[in-house]
Amino acid sequence: MIPIAKPMLGEEEAAAAHAAVLSGWVSQGPQVAAFEADFAAFVDAPHACAVSNCTTALHLALLGMGIGEGDEVITVSHSFIAGANAIRQCGAVPIFVDIEAGGYNIDPERVVQAITPKTRAILCVHQIGMPCDLTALQMIAQKRGLALIEDAACAVGSEIRMMGDWQRIGRAHGDVVCFSFHPRKVITTGEGGMLTTRHAALDAKFRLWRQHGMSVSDTQRHAASDVVFEDYPVPGYNYRMTDIQAAVGRVQLTRLPEIVARRRAIGDDYRELLAEVPGITLPQEPVWAKSNWQSFAVTLDAEVDQRDLMQTLLDEGVTTRRGVMCMHLEQAMRDVPRRHRLMQSETARDHTVLLPLYAQMTQSEVEQVAESLGRAMRSRTRHIRTEPLRLSVAS
Ligand SMILES: *Cc1c(COP(=O)(O)O)cnc(C)c1O
Repeated sequence: MIPIAKPMLGEEEAAAAHAAVLSGWVSQGPQVAAFEADFAAFVDAPHACAVSNCTTALHLALLGMGIGEGDEVITVSHSFIAGANAIRQCGAVPIFVDIEAGGYNIDPERVVQAITPKTRAILCVHQIGMPCDLTALQMIAQKRGLALIEDAACAVGSEIRMMGDWQRIGRAHGDVVCFSFHPRKVITTGEGGMLTTRHAALDAKFRLWRQHGMSVSDTQRHAASDVVFEDYPVPGYNYRMTDIQAAVGRVQLTRLPEIVARRRAIGDDYRELLAEVPGITLPQEPVWAKSNWQSFAVTLDAEVDQRDLMQTLLDEGVTTRRGVMCMHLEQAMRDVPRRHRLMQSETARDHTVLLPLYAQMTQSEVEQVAESLGRAMRSRTRHIRTEPLRLSVAS
């Protein structure tokens, strides 16, 4: 059975967790601080603050930008539901706009059309690891005085070319960038999240909020030679990452370049092996983007039954997932105003299949997926092929 994803964890991560446990310091402490420094250096951001997961990161990012009761935040429906939940947690209203045709990211033109006097922020998503058009979004945010928050839950290790320069997602092109280390993402700490920002004052707020609004951290108090009494200048939360998680995260981060390189090689193989398969469209990478292929999404022609295809593949031992959810179609979002057409979003959900892709995938597994999909599609299309299917990557 070929799974849809598999975290790449080994003895080194186990040893790091083991050492963290035996160090006697297991809650937020020196490993968290070191993970933050490593992560900030990796994405080239001035500040990185670790939190319990990406959903809490999104909550703090929105709070940091002053989002509150009645404010409107423009975002996509076509994303994991955590984004809109975080907006609503602030008392604000998510305004769903459609994604671009031929991709899975927010359409900057739709963002402009959705701006009202109540709009305070844009929450964009680098969906399934593909960078969204930050150049256009930055321009809109700047011109209209809006905050720009990036949901980069899936996009660690992805790159974007901005002003002629390749840069990693997380360099805080927007005001704040939020990452996830859930096992379905490209690197994992079990659960975990990270906030990067250019603004020192924002970073300081995140640090305060994540530990109950407490003025002194555990590590500071522990290290102090004088008696220190903490105080609580603001209401806060417990959104901390543990040192056990951070120790694992540090090892994962050292593996990330290799993981992304392998994932991109598999993406290239898929594109080559599937090039002639009828009834599907392969994902396109804009010339200014390098995806980490957190998910490899294939678009099906309108007449292909998504569920039926997925079942055929599952019967052959190939696990797939359907396209990204549409929040506006979920009961949980029934009270959210529906102002804009979300046709592309719905089409993407119902006519997309995500293929297995993980760094440890063998060449023969990649070929097995391609063969199964090719066979299934050829039997579903009247299109008759005469030339033989290429079964392996040019070698
Ligand atoms: C996974 C995901 C989240 C939530 O991340 P957690 O760390 O599980 O809270 C948010 N947004 C997107 C786009 C995601 O894919």
